[in-house]
Amino acid sequence: MTTVKCFHCLSRSTVHACLLCVVIFWGKRQLASAVNALQQRQSDALATQGFFCRAGYDSHECERRITELKAVLIQYRAGAPKNWRWVIVRSEDWQPLAQSLHLDRESPAFSAITERETFLEDALFFAHPGRTDELVRHFHTPFDQLLSVAVGHELGHAICHGGSEAIANRAAEQLRVGKYPDCAGNMKSLTPIEELYLHSQSPRFRHF
Ligand SMILES: [Zn+2]
Repeated sequence: MTTVKCFHCLSRSTVHACLLCVVIFWGKRQLASAVNALQQRQSDALATQGFFCRAGYDSHECERRITELKAVLIQYRAGAPKNWRWVIVRSEDWQPLAQSLHLDRESPAFSAITERETFLEDALFFAHPGRTDELVRHFHTPFDQLLSVAVGHELGHAICHGGSEAIANRAAEQLRVGKYPDCAGNMKSLTPIEELYLHSQSPRFRHF
């Protein structure tokens, strides 16, 4: 298609048209090259990440959620730790799972640091009556940003090898602006929500 445009352009025998043609030709090639390089970098960034859906999903539902999760992970350019697993759990199975691990039932995400796994509730991906409203109210975050906020926070825990809620939140802020998190240093004072999580957290698990 580019070649045809160039031929057409040259047949007009005007310098302006020919230059425009060359710019379009090289511009397209460079754009395609840049897109390929970006896709390769994104592919490399996610290469060591594992993505799974727990029982109850069909392959199409699972693939949709994994695609959405990958799109969010790519936004955090500093990337997830290598060989990390992401597990998506149906909302109806989430409460029993959280209860069995003695985690806060409000939380839609948690990470098992030593196992290198993060678990995400389906309500972060797909609106569930009642539960989604509950999460939006609880975290003061619009539904379309919940997944990104939860993933950023869990990445903070993952990169900082656990860390406090305040450290995870600060790491998430740094990741959002493309910086690699500084896991040490003085922490800002905790918000009431962060304090709530700090008091209820299990030492083995870190949650959103
Ligand atoms: Zn947390």
